[in-house]
Amino acid sequence: MNSAVVVGAGIAGASVAYFLSRAGVNVTVVDAGLHAASHVPSALINPVRGQSGQVDADALAGMHQTWALVEDLTARGHRIPHGRTGVLRPMPDDQTRARFGRHLPADLKTQWVAPAAPLGPGWAHALFLPDAGWVDGPALCAALLSASGARLVTGRAECWTAHAVTLAGGERLNTGAVVVSGGSVGSTWAGEERTHRMGSMLLLDRAVSGVPLSFGAYLSPDARGGVLGGTFEAPSPTWEAPRLPLGSLRWLLERGAALTDLRAVQVTGRWTGSRLSGLRVGRDDAGVWHLSGLSSKGFLLGPLHARRLAEQVRSGGTPTSPLQ
Ligand SMILES: Cc1cc2nc3c(=O)[nH]c(=O)nc-3n(C[C@H](O)[C@H](O)[C@H](O)COP(=O)(O)OP(=O)(O)OC[C@H]3O[C@@H](n4cnc5c(N)ncnc54)[C@H](O)[C@@H]3O)c2cc1C
Repeated sequence: MNSAVVVGAGIAGASVAYFLSRAGVNVTVVDAGLHAASHVPSALINPVRGQSGQVDADALAGMHQTWALVEDLTARGHRIPHGRTGVLRPMPDDQTRARFGRHLPADLKTQWVAPAAPLGPGWAHALFLPDAGWVDGPALCAALLSASGARLVTGRAECWTAHAVTLAGGERLNTGAVVVSGGSVGSTWAGEERTHRMGSMLLLDRAVSGVPLSFGAYLSPDARGGVLGGTFEAPSPTWEAPRLPLGSLRWLLERGAALTDLRAVQVTGRWTGSRLSGLRVGRDDAGVWHLSGLSSKGFLLGPLHARRLAEQVRSGGTPTSPLQ
């Protein structure tokens, strides 16, 4: 298989394009240029998730893969704002610490530290993850696409088969393999019913802490200052147009103020995106390849899944590559 069309240029599609190209495949990427969750201004590379402290089986390998890509692309001259600063996870009580402690794998570097400034008062414990950090989403996607050398077609793919993609204008792209990585909006355009969650970031004039702080919401540096973000809207069965209801804004500000003192910080803007849950990776019955449903872990796990998928696509797949 020496050619492929990838639908979607978010972190999933851009990573698939990158790894396919490196394996010698001639890649075309089709992207509508709309509603990419991967345009998140600052994505945490954080293996210890949520308020339960769950650690995905692939979290360590995913974190190392993403950092390796960032380092490699940076060394080749691509500008990708990021910080391998570690991430601090404050916890409100002993129960939460015990829950997190149960999930931590032995090979993950962790340090329990005393909660101190810039954390606000009221935190009982704090877990420092020295290998974690943050990355600029659009910059990483752009670097992957550029380094892949893939041909980029701006437009919407209307439909596809195992060996062809038809664009909205009727043009047909014939190819050796088709990979669909359309994220939340693409899933709804394709008529699927899956689980979507909207979240927002307030863009801040400064980073309140050099190390991202995360519990409930997160505060992180970004390329222009900082962000306060989280995913708080109720799940929905389809992608929905970006919005930030006042109640959600209040939720975000309360979570942010619990993390640290925000009184000196200015809000300079807002970014809203929708993420898709339910990992879908592999080949469907029609022979079309998929990588979607990366949920809140697109930058932690997307490149790793993309590398594995690209190996299967390049080799034409095996009986052990069904859709998950
Ligand atoms: C508020 C918020 C905070 C987040 N924080 C983090 C975090 O800290 N760490 C982390 O790892 N992840 C985080 N995520 C999740 C992460 O952003 C997503 O998992 C990831 O970006 C999904 O990438 P994707 O490539 O699957 O989809 P997307 O980035 O949504 O890209 C899909 C692309 O495909 C295009 N497309 C779709 N259908 C078609 C079609 N038919 N034809 C042409 N183009 C099409 C779209 O226009 C879009 O450009 C966050 C998400 C949100 C919303």
